[in-house]
Amino acid sequence: MDLTRESAQYVKGVGPHRFKLLNRLGIQTIWDLLTYYPRRYEDRSQFIPIARTKVGEFHTIRGEVLVSGVRQTKTRKMSLFEIAVSDGSRIIYGVWFNQPYLKDYFRVGDKVILYGKVEVFQHLQMSSPEFEILTNDEEDSLHMGRVVPIYPLTQGLTQRPLRGIIYQSLERYLPDVKDPMPGVVVERYHPMVLARALQEVHFPTDFTQLKLARERIIFQEFFFLQMAIALRRRQITVKEGIRHQVEGKLLKDFSESLPFQWTGAQKRVIAEIAADLSSSRPMNRLLEGEVGSGKTLVAIYALLIAVQGKYQGAMMAPTEILAEQHYRTLQKWLAPLREKGWEIRVTLLTGEIAGPQKSQALAMIQMGQIHVVVGTHALIEENVRFHRLGLAVIDEQHRFGVDQRASLTRKGNHPDVLVMTATPIPRTLAMTVYGDLDISILDELPPGRKPIKSYWVEEEKRERVYRFIRQKTEEGRQVYIVYPLIEESEKVDLKAAVKMHRQLSKEIFPDLKVGLLHGKMKSLEKERVMEDFRDGVSQILVSTVVIEVGIDVPNATVMVIEHPERFGLSQLHQLRGRIGRGEHESYCILIGGVGAGFKPAPTDEVRDRLSAFVELSDGFRIAEKDLEIRGPGEFLGTRQHGLPELKLANLIRDQGILEQARGEAQQLLEQDSMLEKPENRLLRGELERLYTGKFEWALA
Ligand code: ADP
Ligand code: MG
Repeated sequence: MDLTRESAQYVKGVGPHRFKLLNRLGIQTIWDLLTYYPRRYEDRSQFIPIARTKVGEFHTIRGEVLVSGVRQTKTRKMSLFEIAVSDGSRIIYGVWFNQPYLKDYFRVGDKVILYGKVEVFQHLQMSSPEFEILTNDEEDSLHMGRVVPIYPLTQGLTQRPLRGIIYQSLERYLPDVKDPMPGVVVERYHPMVLARALQEVHFPTDFTQLKLARERIIFQEFFFLQMAIALRRRQITVKEGIRHQVEGKLLKDFSESLPFQWTGAQKRVIAEIAADLSSSRPMNRLLEGEVGSGKTLVAIYALLIAVQGKYQGAMMAPTEILAEQHYRTLQKWLAPLREKGWEIRVTLLTGEIAGPQKSQALAMIQMGQIHVVVGTHALIEENVRFHRLGLAVIDEQHRFGVDQRASLTRKGNHPDVLVMTATPIPRTLAMTVYGDLDISILDELPPGRKPIKSYWVEEEKRERVYRFIRQKTEEGRQVYIVYPLIEESEKVDLKAAVKMHRQLSKEIFPDLKVGLLHGKMKSLEKERVMEDFRDGVSQILVSTVVIEVGIDVPNATVMVIEHPERFGLSQLHQLRGRIGRGEHESYCILIGGVGAGFKPAPTDEVRDRLSAFVELSDGFRIAEKDLEIRGPGEFLGTRQHGLPELKLANLIRDQGILEQARGEAQQLLEQDSMLEKPENRLLRGELERLYTGKFEWALA
C-alpha cells in the first residue's frame, strides 16, 4: 500500500468535515498524518503541584475548575474570560482576552490541564494558556498518565481529536510502513526502524526513547537531502563540458589595466575558478563575499576567460537596476582594453529593451558578434539564442530558483556556471545546502575601506539626524535615505516614500537637490535620477530598496534607513554596503523602531535584530545571526532549492547528525552509484517519489 497516496479522510475519527480541517494543516494523506509531528510533549505521568510552580517559567498543571466567568476589563475595551483552578495546593487563574466563547467550554467542576507561563498579577495566573478538559473515562491512556504529544492546531480542531486521529492512523497503518533506509546504515547509525521511530515520536514510551526516535527521523530527513544533493551534483559532473584556455594576453592585459592590485582573496578565488574552467567538468561554483569585496570584478575576469577562447559569456541579475549597473561596470572596466586593441562587445537585455533594438541584439547574440550579454531573466526567454555560450554568471543566488539557473545553462552545451551571492552563509551550512555547488569565498575587502559607524536612534532624534545630513552635504558628501517597500502594502508605502521625498525637498532641504528612486518608475527616469546622483547633481537620494544592490557612489557616505524594523538583517547589511566605499568616514543611521513615539514598542526580535546590526560589521557574522533569528528555512528560502522541507530536522541545531548523514550518503553512492542493488531498491523508490519533478532526475 502506498501510504503517500492513501487519503487521510477514511481514518477512524476523520470524516469529510475534519478532513477539511486537516487539509488546512497540510495533511492530505496517511503519510502526512504519520509525519505530522508534535510541537512539544507534556509529561502527564506526574504533575507539579501549583504551589511549587515557579513564576516566569512554563508549567503544565492539573486541577479542578472552581469558578468561571466573563467580565469587562476596567477600560471596558476588552472582555476577559477567567477560570480559577485548584489542585488542593494552591489556586491559579487562567485568563483569556476577547475570547468570551470559551465560557461554553468550561464548567465548574471540570478537571483541566493548563500549560503556560506562570505569572503573578494579583493572583497566580497563566494568560491564554493551552488547555485540555479531561473527560471522565480517564482510563483513557492516550491523553493521560504518559508523555503526551501536543500538536500544532488549526481553528476548529482541538488537541484531543487530533491526537486520537493520529493514534488511530498509527494503529492501523504502521504495519505498512517500510523502512526505506538501507539496513547497513540503520544498523551502523541507529538501530531503531522507521515504524518504531514513528510510534515513539508520537507516543513516546519515555523521553529517552523519544530522543532516539527523533534522532532517527532527523537522520533520515538529512540522509535523503544529502542523497538528493549528491545525485544532483553527479548529474552535473558526469557531463562533458568546456575546457577553457585560462591564460592569455587578454587576461594579462585586463589585470594590468586595473588601477589596483587584486586582493589576496581575489587571486585565490580566481585560481579556483580558473581550475574549474580549464577542466572538462562543468563548473558549478558559488562565489560568496561581502558587498564590495570585489565579486563583480572577479566575475568579469571569468567572463574574459570565456571570451578569449571565442566563447560567449552571460551575466544574469535579479533586477533591472542591477543588470544595468553590471552592464555599466563591465563597460567601465573593459574600456581600457580598447587601447590595447581588444574590442569586447557587451549588450544589455532586459524587459525594457524591445523593438528593433531588441531584435538587433538577439541577432548579434545568435551570430556570436556579442561577447558578453548582461540582463535580467529576459535572458532566459526562449528567443534568446547564443552562438557559443561558455560561461553563465548568475548574481544574487537567493532570487533565482534552481529552474531558472537551469534555463540559462540549457542555452549552451554544458556551460560553466558561477553563482554570486552577497548574503554569505556559513561554510558548513553552504556545503550541505548548496551541496551541488563548490564554494569560493572572498573574505577580504579591498584595502582602504573604512569601517562604517552604525547607529540606531529613536524617532525623537530625527531633527538631529537632519542636521547631521546638512552638515555632511555641506562638506560635499552625499546621502541615501532608504524607505522600505513591502509587497503587501506597496501602494501605501510608496505613497509614504513619495510624501517623504516631497517634505524633504520642499521643507527640510529646499536648497538641495533631492532625488527620488523607486521600482515603479520608468527605466529612463530611473536612469536619469541615478545619473544625477552619481554625478553629484543631487545630494540626497530618497529610495526604496531598489538600491539594495549594485550602486557604486563612493562619495555617498551617509545612509539613513527609515522603518528599519521592516528589513531583515542581511538586507540591512546589504544596504549598508552601499556606503563606506570611498576615502571619507561613513555613517549608517537607523531611525525609529524604538522608544516613545513608536507604537507598538519594538518586539524582542526587532530589538535583537537591530542591535545586532549596529554591533556587527562582518558579513559572515551577520549572516550567522540572521540565520539564528530567522531560522534556516526562511533564511535560505529552501523552497527555491527544489528540495523538500525538513520537518523535524534543523540545519543548525542538528549539524552533528547532518554530517553523519552526509557521510553515509556519500559512502552508499560510492558502493552503488545508481542504487541498483536489491537492498537499495526501497531507497531508490523513496527518492524518486520525493524528488521527481523537483529537479532533472539523476538516476534516469
Ligand atoms: P561586489 O560585487 O563584491 O560588491 P565589486 O566588484 O563591485 O564588489 O567591487 C566593489 C568596489 O571595490 C568597486 O568600486 C571596485 O572597483 C573596487 N575593487 C574591487 N577589487 C578591488 C581591489 N582589488 N582593490 C581595490 N578596489 C577594488
Ligand atoms: Mg557588485
